[in-house]
Amino acid sequence: MVPPPIVIKCACGIETRGTAGALIHCQGCGLKYDTASEARILETVAAKTQRQFRYLSRSGVGLVGLCGLGGLYLYKTPGLLVGAAIGAAFWYVLLMPFMKKRMIAKATSLYTPTISPHRK
Ligand SMILES: [Zn+2]
Repeated sequence: MVPPPIVIKCACGIETRGTAGALIHCQGCGLKYDTASEARILETVAAKTQRQFRYLSRSGVGLVGLCGLGGLYLYKTPGLLVGAAIGAAFWYVLLMPFMKKRMIAKATSLYTPTISPHRK
């Protein structure tokens, strides 16, 4: 997994960009920030969100299949196609973008790292 970008806001007021997991030096005063433990927590949050995305996507495939089978049962072969199309449109066009936005908002609010500097 690619380490996520991170911004360190130092007490001196300077913001320094880096990647999570790296030892980041403040560009203003030179304080060191070790972000290894924060990277592990961010990785856990990202893995949980990816699991939820996979579950959501697989649920959509299941719903499309069920709608197709319902259409097949009611209206034969044309019903299969129309039912699957209605299921796909409902899930992937209407519901999934909404759920995706909610999941990302939840994941970003779960953890805000606070890192103390090391003076050396
Ligand atoms: Zn600083």
